[in-house]
Amino acid sequence: MKPDFHGKVAIVTGAGSGIGAAVSRQLAQEGAEVVVADLDAEAARCRAAEIGAQGGSAYDFAVDVTDAAAVEKLIEFTVQKCGGLDMAVNNAGIDGVRKATADYPLDNWHRLMNVNLNGVFYSMKYEIAAMLDRGGGAIVNMSSILGSVGLPTASAYTAAKHGVVGLTKVAAIEYARMGIRINAVGPGWIETPLLSEQAEALANTRRMAALQPMGRRGKPEEVAALVCFLLSDQASFITGSYHLVDGAYTAH
Ligand code: NAP
Repeated sequence: MKPDFHGKVAIVTGAGSGIGAAVSRQLAQEGAEVVVADLDAEAARCRAAEIGAQGGSAYDFAVDVTDAAAVEKLIEFTVQKCGGLDMAVNNAGIDGVRKATADYPLDNWHRLMNVNLNGVFYSMKYEIAAMLDRGGGAIVNMSSILGSVGLPTASAYTAAKHGVVGLTKVAAIEYARMGIRINAVGPGWIETPLLSEQAEALANTRRMAALQPMGRRGKPEEVAALVCFLLSDQASFITGSYHLVDGAYTAH
């Protein structure tokens, strides 16, 4: 059975590209009104126009998730434009440089934490308030396989993605009796522009190939299918948990 999002309003951050774009498309295909939010205003505009051209309903909004006041404006815009908020996918993220922990540059560490962890906190802070006004809702936070295992040279990314899982669990417990379900998703290596040249090079080493039992990387649509399931009423008893979509990467 497909999820049915008719009459529901969703925000997706980092929706201009990759996984966020695929999630926005699937939400709109199943009837949701989607606010496509991204740092890249032009990418957000294009994705919203694409959804509109396919008969869906979408608005674009330029936002930097590291700016709490801007995130608050995104939620205000959504409530004003669409009448409320039912679903949110806190997906905006960056990859970061690859350096051993002692060599990891401080400015890169802070930037990555700001986008990948603080951005999720700011988003949830204002989304939850809007969902409480509506009487409930569902949130999916984008973690990674690196929300449960480590990758040498990726200390900041790994710490931030573990943090997203922790944040998800705490908020899920806090709001479980108020009708808001909150889960985290942990994708493996997915074919999107996020994979930097350094990450690409690493992904193509024999060691990393051995960690991809299916012999291929995932597609954004395969992550979007899990996200949409978790947002849907079919997942009504699922909250506070972390769900992998990794082709058995972490099964090793
Ligand atoms: P992507 O194609 O690069 O998309 C990420 C989007 O987020 C981009 O449009 C990017 O805009 C936007 N963004 C970056 N910083 C932002 C900010 N401060 N505020 C608002 N938007 C911002 O990457 P993706 O692979 O789809 O990644 C989506 C999420 O999945 C990320 O959280 C990532 O960590 C996670 N993930 C990805 C993989 C993978 O293998 N691809 C695996 C595990 C987890 P710009 O293009 O302007 O930077």
